[in-house]
Amino acid sequence: MASVFGHMLLGTTLGAVLLPERHHWCWWLVAAACAFLPDADVIGFKFHIAYASSWGHRGLTHSVLAAAVVASVITGLAGLRRSNAMPPVARLWTLLFLATASHGVLDAMTTGGLGVAFFSPFDQQRYFFSLRPIQVSPIGIRNFLGEKGVRVLGSEALWVGLPCLLVLLVKRSWLRRA
Ligand SMILES: [Zn+2]
Repeated sequence: MASVFGHMLLGTTLGAVLLPERHHWCWWLVAAACAFLPDADVIGFKFHIAYASSWGHRGLTHSVLAAAVVASVITGLAGLRRSNAMPPVARLWTLLFLATASHGVLDAMTTGGLGVAFFSPFDQQRYFFSLRPIQVSPIGIRNFLGEKGVRVLGSEALWVGLPCLLVLLVKRSWLRRA
């Protein structure tokens, strides 16, 4: 995995771009949570679920289908509230889908672990991109502390933080011009 910081930063950035109206800020936080959600599968290690199985880490939970399900469930639940502050449904669904799917994209750019089962449950093949500059983050807070964590955060600052910052700056200047 990339770290919680990298995933949530990308999710928040997607929120700020796709729902730029300030009063939608709480959806930026939901997008950040969606961007980290697939790693809930690490609980499988406690139950001795094999890493390489479809229910293992980076398996079904990291797939495109799971992202579509998460986006559909949250958008559906939000629609039940019928609030005036509800964002346009298509934009909200797209944000939540992209935020959740972004998780697998970052994981597929990391230096370690198994690849991402993007097309599970139809295809169990694990994928990495050919560009893999992000240091893989260790699982567990204790393992993250120290030199390893600093290296992970450094590579994420460069390969996630910087592109997110550039996107936000471009968005800001574009909105000003508009
Ligand atoms: Zn992951």
